[in-house]
Parts: sequence; structure tokens; C-alpha cells
Amino acid sequence: MLLNDPSLLHEQCYIDGQWVCANSGETIAIANPANHEIIGHVPVMGAAETLTAIDAANKALPAWRALTAKERSSKLRRWFELLIENADDLALLMTTEQGKPLAEAKGEVAYAASFIEWFAEEAKRVYGDTIPGHQADKRLTVIKQPVGVTAAITPWNFPAAMITRKAAPALAAGCTMVVKPAPQTPFTALALAELAHRAGIPAGVFSVVTGDAIAIGNTLCESPIVRKLSFTGSTGVGIKLMAQCAPTLKKMSLELGGNAPFIVFDDADLDAAVDGAMIAKYRNAGQTCVCANRIYVQAGVYDAFIQKFADAVGKLKVGAGTEQGVTTGPLINADAVAKVQRHLDDAVSKGASIVVGGKPHNLGGYFFEPTIMRDVDKSMLVAREETFGPLAPVFKFECVDDVIQQANDTEFGLAAYFYGRDISLVYKVAEALEYGMVGVNTGLISNEVAPFGGIKSSGLGREGSKFGIEEYLEMKYICMSV
Ligand code: ADP
Repeated sequence: MLLNDPSLLHEQCYIDGQWVCANSGETIAIANPANHEIIGHVPVMGAAETLTAIDAANKALPAWRALTAKERSSKLRRWFELLIENADDLALLMTTEQGKPLAEAKGEVAYAASFIEWFAEEAKRVYGDTIPGHQADKRLTVIKQPVGVTAAITPWNFPAAMITRKAAPALAAGCTMVVKPAPQTPFTALALAELAHRAGIPAGVFSVVTGDAIAIGNTLCESPIVRKLSFTGSTGVGIKLMAQCAPTLKKMSLELGGNAPFIVFDDADLDAAVDGAMIAKYRNAGQTCVCANRIYVQAGVYDAFIQKFADAVGKLKVGAGTEQGVTTGPLINADAVAKVQRHLDDAVSKGASIVVGGKPHNLGGYFFEPTIMRDVDKSMLVAREETFGPLAPVFKFECVDDVIQQANDTEFGLAAYFYGRDISLVYKVAEALEYGMVGVNTGLISNEVAPFGGIKSSGLGREGSKFGIEEYLEMKYICMSV
């Protein structure tokens, strides 16, 4: 990996403004999922180092929250600019440790940076309220104050954006933050810390701790100093963290699993629906929590949609993300490949047939062929579980009420998509889908200006948008007698 600026690759953690090793000196190797080559090593830290990071965040808090919003905003703005200036290196680092194609990695760097830019602006717009008094001599006001020391635990599928979507609103609000990145993608997180350092974000305000997920997680959850935890990852781990945070009554934001339906009605623009399905299904090799997991197509266009969809999937190019023209990188690890295979085998054993793909790619390793299955039904695992891979199961449906019932028949409620042109149908379906986000005639809904988040087992809270900063603010009501 040839970075323009090799000093972005750190093999130490960033705590209290210093680059440090684990107390034990222990490190773990990080491998490229495309070719299994070792990229470098990161420290295996545990409870003691996490406590140091929490203490540093606590010490840094008074000065950071005392800055004017404009002062914090300027530092965040500089951090944003540095991400953009170093976008090529960050993207290469990300592709090397995560596998996504370089063009997608560049897209993620821009997306990650957009949260910093957005919240640098929102920092200045944290308004309070004045309330007409309940008695003649009373003056009532509401002010917003930072929550305090916060923590984030993030996943590997968006190694940069899942950190900035949490850290930017936290820092904008005047909070400090300790981040535990995913074990698969620490280098992107550490590069973000390097750029935060260069942007002049003070020591302790933003720290990154790598290592033992359980020891670090326990320490963050149990600490009475940490007032909020923001987590993105699986529902099972989210539930566990919420239970662990209960004794200290932390505020929580949880972005958990999804099982997104993608519905195509008879009157849809089929070419647009195929374009949307390609993005919603195959982006990041199907490894996003808003990926279309169940594709429902109305009977009148079922065959036509599958034909066009198969043509588009046939044009995907599988390979290492650094290779020219590659659209689909490797999956993150062997477990991910095994899950796709399990979902595929289960569906085929119950009567589904394969239209395109259907097996591990002949490149070997963690590469899997982009796959479409037809004649899928609700008895199959793909109807209930998130596949998190390049496998598109296509269900056939007849009537609107039936597809809404099937789409909502899941514990999850993150993203849903549908394509149709009848205006009253569009409203009815958008309102009936039990999801936090609905894409109508589009397969791409995430951006920094809109509230991202789910309902039911998909989590709590919203990230991005004007609402995102509220998650890092406490409301204080002041009642003054005059
Ligand atoms: P995935 O299966 O996609 O890796 P996880 O929910 O397991 O999703 O992981 C998301 C993040 O949660 C990662 O940073 C991981 O290290 C962390 N994590 C996993 N288990 C725990 C745990 N018990 N305590 C704290 N963090 C955890």
C-alpha cells in the first residue's frame, strides 16, 4: 500500500493526544481481506488503557465545552478539510483493510467528511427556548448543554463514516469521545485520529482505543464517567451493551441490524427499479445495514424485472477493490462467506432457483459471486435473517396489502424501499411500512442532512441531520423568580 502520506498509517492507539502502545506491549496483525496479506499491527488494549482514555476525556471536557460554538466549529471545519485533502490516502487505507472498491471508499470518505462539515455548522445552531412564565414573577428558559464524556463502538462496514457520524455531533455539542473501532478496520480510525490531531482538536477530546472488544466495551459501559454510548453493529451486541449500560443509566444511540424490503409494483419504472436495486443490494458487496435483503416484485412485472436485474448483475466485476473497474470486493471474512452460502443452500433446498451467480467466486478467498435467486418464499432463512452479502432473493407478490404485511413481518425496522408511480399508492405504502427510513423510487437514502435510524429491533435514536446533535445534548430548564 503506497500512501502519499505514510504518516497516516499508525500502529499505535491515540489516547490523550499521544500515540501509545498497549501496557502489555501486545499487538494483533490486521490482514487485507482481498489477499490476506498483513497490512500492519495494532495494540491489544484492555480495561486499563480504556480507563486512561476515559480519564483523559473527562479532563479535556471542561475546556472543550467552554469554547464558543464557533471555536469548536472552526476545529471541526479544519478536520473536515483534512479528510478531503487526504481522501485518496484514506480511501486506499480503507480498501486495503475493508475490501470495498476504491471508488466506493472515496465515496465513503466524502460521506464521512460530510458529517464533520454538517455538524461544524450545526454546532452554532444549538438553540434553547424561553417559555411564558406560569406566574407573573417567573422567567422560564431552557438551555442545551453537552452530555459530557461519550463513547462509540463502531463496525467494519463503514470504517470512517460510522465514526464521524458519532464523533462530529458529539464534539460539536461540546462532548468528548472515546472510540473503539471494529477490530477489522482500525487503521482508518487511527488515520482519522491523526487528522483530528492535525486539526488542533485538543488532547483527550477524541481518543481511539483498539484491542479486546469485551474488555474495552465493559469498561466503557460500566464507567459512571461515560454518560452516553453510541453503538453501530449487530442487534445481539446492541442488546447486550444496553443491559450493561443500565446500571449507570447512560443515554444510548443504537444503530442495529436491518432486513430491508425492496418492493417493485406493477406500475414502476423498471429500469429505475433495477438501478435502485443494484445500489441497495450490491453496494459494499451487500454489507450494509440498509442493504435490500428481500426483493418483492409484483406478479405482472416479475419476469421482466428479473431479466433486467440479471443483465445488470452480469456486468458486475468481482476482484480486489484496488483493481481498475472492480465493482464488488471480497466479503469481510470467512464467516460472512459461510452465511451467504447457508442462506443460498437453505433457499435452494426449499425450492428457490438461481438466476445468476450462486457460488463462491473462482478468485477464492472471501470472494462470492453476485447472486440472484427467484421463486423465493417466506419459509426460507433469507426472509427472516439479514444476509449481509451479495445475494438477492426475489419474492413474487400479488396485492398491495399482502406485500405490506410481508414487508413488516420482521423484528427489524431500519430501511425500506419501493418503486411505484401511483401517487395514492406511494403515500399509502410509505406510511404503512414500519421502518425508520423509506426510499421511494430511489435505492440510496443515506446522507448527512437526513435523520438515519431505525425502529423495533433496529435501534434507538437518529444520526445526521438537525436531530443528530440532540443525541449529545441535555436540556436544562431554568426557573427564575424576579
Ligand atoms: P459484526 O458481526 O458486524 O462484526 P458486531 O456487532 O459483532 O458486528 O460488532 C460491531 C462492533 O461491536 C465492533 O466494534 C465489535 O468489536 C464490537 N463488539 C462486539 N462484541 C462486543 C461486546 N461484547 N462488547 C463490546 N463491543 C463488542
